[in-house]
Amino acid sequence: MTSQLIDQHEYTRAGNLTRRFTEVYGHAPDGVWWAPGRVNLIGEHTDYNDGFVLPFAIDRAAMVAVRLRRAGEPNPEAVELASTYAPEGERLARARFTVPGLTPGADGDWGAYPAGVVHVLAGLDNVKVPGFELLLDSTVPVGAGLSSSHAVEVATIVALNDLLGLDLGRPAMALLTQQAENDFVGAPTGIMDQSASLMGRAGGALFLDCRTLESHVVPLPLAEHGFTVLVIDTKVAHSHADGGYAARRASCERGAATLGVASLRDVPADVDLAALDEETARRVRHVLTENARVLATVERLRSGDIAGIGELLTASHASLRDDYEVSCPELDLAVEAALAAGAVGARMTGGGFGGSAIALTPVSHERQVREAVLHGFAGTGLQAPDIFTVLPASGAQQL
Ligand code: ADP
Ligand code: MG
Repeated sequence: MTSQLIDQHEYTRAGNLTRRFTEVYGHAPDGVWWAPGRVNLIGEHTDYNDGFVLPFAIDRAAMVAVRLRRAGEPNPEAVELASTYAPEGERLARARFTVPGLTPGADGDWGAYPAGVVHVLAGLDNVKVPGFELLLDSTVPVGAGLSSSHAVEVATIVALNDLLGLDLGRPAMALLTQQAENDFVGAPTGIMDQSASLMGRAGGALFLDCRTLESHVVPLPLAEHGFTVLVIDTKVAHSHADGGYAARRASCERGAATLGVASLRDVPADVDLAALDEETARRVRHVLTENARVLATVERLRSGDIAGIGELLTASHASLRDDYEVSCPELDLAVEAALAAGAVGARMTGGGFGGSAIALTPVSHERQVREAVLHGFAGTGLQAPDIFTVLPASGAQQL
């Protein structure tokens, strides 16, 4: 695997986590596994339309230390979970369940993510999941749209895959974690986030065809070309996000049905959208143009043109804002301020209605962009965003 590309700092974290695990559970873990969050470079709201996405795994990750219960130990089917992401005043968040009798949707707490993974694995032929102890520590900010939840699921599945000797392939693990999230946690998410976390490569983005699930790595040599990607976490989550997401999916289904195709992937580029009502036509137009932008981004990256993808990112934002209507004032402000200060491209990333924007920024302009964004927010009375850089990192692995 690509373990040499994991930052040395992460091995230090793994050592600390091992020590902490031993304090918490009274014995050493069987190992430590690492699963990154992701940023979607481009290809937004295309996944559930059988379209194209281009995310990359980032250098912020969930790390889990895990130890399987041995035969003859007490409570052989008990799963004990602890996370350093704890409520105010507590050292750890704890959760507990037993492998048999896991009920989908029963637990709305964070333990549902690892439990969902256990549930889908235990449902496979000839797989028996014993009890285990797990300690989680993640550097993926929660709720920022960088997929902290998938990082937890992916870290759990790669750990159990290795410890139980299941030999599941990466695409299979992506599908299983999706199933865990859809059927157990109850979130109707696609396949992109887990795929990026499982199949990302340092210095690359993952092109994923959400219909065939074929994927390949596209070079994204940011540093070599003097660029960085800034994440601007607006720290807002607008309450209509869930309803808005469901409504957008329904619009796409309606559009596809009216156009007589199974999914918007099958709509020809020169289609006449006049048969659709005005709003549905705009929703469909976003999906069609976004797929085309993903393909154009891949082409430019393949020819080494990093700066050239900037205009595609910015066009993606305009389409999400105007045609798909999933942006919000905070995201628009972040994008506009970043572009005005020298970013070559910027867009909201993730589902929208809050969360984060990304700005492809020349390293020479990083400071100006950061300052301009903070200044823009300060002038409006909005809470200051968190701004940090991300690098295209390796996919999930044992450390
Ligand atoms: P995101 O965009 O970050 O994935 P979600 O709302 O989908 O946002 O997932 C966030 C949820 O994932 C948290 O509320 C929590 O249940 C779980 N989660 C993520 N990271 C951790 C962590 N380090 N410890 C415990 N739970 C976590
Ligand atoms: Mg999530």
